[in-house]
Amino acid sequence: MAGERSAELVVLGGGPGGYAAAFLAADLGRKVLLVDTETDPGGVCLYRGCIPSKALLHVARLLTEAREAEDWGVRLGKPRIDLDRLRAWKDQVVGKLTGGLGDLARKRKVVTVRGYARFRSARSIWVDKGSGDTETITFEQAIVATGSRPVGLKLLGQLSPDRVLDSTSALDLPEIPPRLLVIGGGYIGLELGTVYAALGSRVTVVEMTSALLPGVDADLVRPLAARLETTLAAVLLETRVAGAEEARGGVQVRLEGKHAGASDQLFDRILVAVGRRPNSGDLGLENTQVETDEHGFIRVDAQRRTDEPAIFAIGDVAGQPMLAHKAAHEARVAVEAATGRAAAFEPRAIPAVVFTDPEIAWCGLTEAEARSAGRTVEVARFPWAASGRAATLGRSDGVTKLVVDPDGERILGVGLAGPGAGELIAEGVLAVEMGATVTDLKLSIHPHPTLSETLMEAAEVFFGHSTHFHRPRRKS
Ligand code: FAD
Repeated sequence: MAGERSAELVVLGGGPGGYAAAFLAADLGRKVLLVDTETDPGGVCLYRGCIPSKALLHVARLLTEAREAEDWGVRLGKPRIDLDRLRAWKDQVVGKLTGGLGDLARKRKVVTVRGYARFRSARSIWVDKGSGDTETITFEQAIVATGSRPVGLKLLGQLSPDRVLDSTSALDLPEIPPRLLVIGGGYIGLELGTVYAALGSRVTVVEMTSALLPGVDADLVRPLAARLETTLAAVLLETRVAGAEEARGGVQVRLEGKHAGASDQLFDRILVAVGRRPNSGDLGLENTQVETDEHGFIRVDAQRRTDEPAIFAIGDVAGQPMLAHKAAHEARVAVEAATGRAAAFEPRAIPAVVFTDPEIAWCGLTEAEARSAGRTVEVARFPWAASGRAATLGRSDGVTKLVVDPDGERILGVGLAGPGAGELIAEGVLAVEMGATVTDLKLSIHPHPTLSETLMEAAEVFFGHSTHFHRPRRKS
């Protein structure tokens, strides 16, 4: 069966970029059609990424706190995990949110089409709905928001498929493997490793480079690395997997590098978390003027317009950082530009959060970026050991830091490590975006006792005046 219809705006992909774009365009009066491989919008973030991982990390946190409560005089006993109910709960969270998005699409009269879209020309797409059902849709403008997918590892290709997990299959919780190897010390590997370790797996992480979370400031990573030493079986830096084969009782892994000999080499499952690549290769872009870069990201300008004037691209498919809130922000820019409004993607601060325990969050300029750019900055650090609120939580291992421009004392970046860092970073984003100075932050009264005070106290540290952390620094 082949059909045809038209829309003013077609959006390819219903993730946080795609559905945000479709909804805003509809709110602005456009006739919008949204194509995705799922019935309800949500994309990777809701179905296979942010939301299911955070639901499981919430459970991981609960399990960890229940264990640690013994130190506070509360014994809860050994937890019993009902994997089917846990999976059902996580699926219910996802279903509730994606179903809600479906309702919002209908209320806005956004037409949703389930299928896989490819460009036939710069003014039409062809949607494969499966079972021979296809449709051609002509449009005035299009937004590509097709996201990204996990990168696989060829050297594991000969293993039985159920031995090898990626983030999607790991979130399906097939079982709690007694011994899990995580390849990749980036945020996805560490978040999922944290989940499985809390559920009871003996988790080993292998990372090729010399640090976890490559690129993140070392002082923010330190509290996490210290804690992972107690919660994971091993973290092997500067080590790589050179081969793997089925063996009696598991997969025998061959490691190479600095810590190759320092670990078990027999695992029940291997989780590959070595990165993601943009979904741009099978979109029929060759039938348009849309260009991609050497990594497969679609080339866009500040308005998120591609080399084809009627086609925009946003989200993971349009470049780093691959984060849901960056996709959603780009969606607004693209739709505003497409509808003739003045808009540009020019954030000073895109926050990033690693939802491990402790959480790590940062925004704006990092110390590492400043150093590699040869830029002089001042850094003020407030250790959570001096925070009353952190002490009440039994978590004094965190840190809050400000990266400050010495000329004018503007806050250029903020970094946090500690429980709740992901929520606290929002204040840092506002400070950086608004061009706040350290004095502005110092003079803003923060509620006591809260972890948010650590931001104010970091500003006080800058002047050598922190009440709870004595570090004389400069005359004022
Ligand atoms: P996606 O969410 O990838 O959605 C793209 C959609 O397009 C998908 O539904 C796909 O099936 C569909 N599609 C692809 N090609 C076609 C086609 N040709 N036709 C029709 N449909 C198509 N980000 C955060 O900000 N915070 C987090 O905590 C976080 N956690 C994550 C945890 C995990 C395990 C993973 C994997 C990712 C996580 N991310 C997180 C990243 C986040 O999911 C992505 O940055 C975000 O989903 C990107 O949104 P998007 O709109 O670009 O595309």
